[in-house]
Amino acid sequence: MVSRVVREDGSLWSRWKTLRQTIDGASGAKIAIGHFNASELVALNGIVSGARDAGVPVIVGATEKERAFAGVRQLAALVRSFRDERGLPVFLNADHTHSLGSALAAARAGFDAIGFDASALPFDENVGETRRAVIALKSINPEILVEGEIGNIGMGSRIHMVETKEAKTLSTPDEARQFVSATGVDLLAPAIGTMHGLTLDMVSGLTKKRLNIERIREIRAAAGVPLVLHGGSGTEEADFELAVAAGVSIVHVNTEVRLALREGLMEGLATSDMSPYTIMTPACEAVRRLVQTKLRSFNTCWAVAGVAR
Ligand SMILES: [Zn+2]
Repeated sequence: MVSRVVREDGSLWSRWKTLRQTIDGASGAKIAIGHFNASELVALNGIVSGARDAGVPVIVGATEKERAFAGVRQLAALVRSFRDERGLPVFLNADHTHSLGSALAAARAGFDAIGFDASALPFDENVGETRRAVIALKSINPEILVEGEIGNIGMGSRIHMVETKEAKTLSTPDEARQFVSATGVDLLAPAIGTMHGLTLDMVSGLTKKRLNIERIREIRAAAGVPLVLHGGSGTEEADFELAVAAGVSIVHVNTEVRLALREGLMEGLATSDMSPYTIMTPACEAVRRLVQTKLRSFNTCWAVAGVAR
């Protein structure tokens, strides 16, 4: 008998202390870690509270623009304070880092992982730049995880008028194998059916992003490292579970966090209260609810005869 189980077993997660242990553990257990972006304390509080309520680890992501707003060292200190004070497994990733300089700044500030993104360059240049980044980052912190990106899944966690053509172009197992062995990255983000942002039809729920599960399985086998799924907002829920079983260990959600935050903020602004904490509370709460729901779904896996894998 095959059934779905939700992995919220604290003992499972408590064995894993570092981000590498957590990712390897998730990969073995066929579950995924949620990655949500924050550029200020309201979203960050919502993400941490959602993870605490779901009882699972979480990765906070911040792109170069998000880090420029929040402050690289300030964001690292905030995440560290949540980890220290509440004993929560909250990790921090420098999402979509295009320049080596900002990657090094994040590593020096104490980020757990760097998503180095040279995927806009031709493949060989992407390999060269990423290889250079891996060597420089590991010399600052040998434990830091570096993610490389191949393929193109479009730019911008926002609402798009039409689906971008990039979503149709998939990475190949050969590219994945070649890229990982030449660069030494710890994690790989290939193009496997998603795109960044949402279309209007996706916001209203009329259409969903669909993943190519077979290609994910082939790329995972060829790459030999855990896979990261970007542009997870608006993806068919059933596809997530299959993608995780096929080799995706981290799922990125940003656009849906931004939508929840914005809607909550508008609700808060509609009150006559002027206190910032009253205005911001519905925004924080909306992010918390979204993150909790997403994390529960990423921690759902397929179990055979009632035994969780
Ligand atoms: Zn992304």
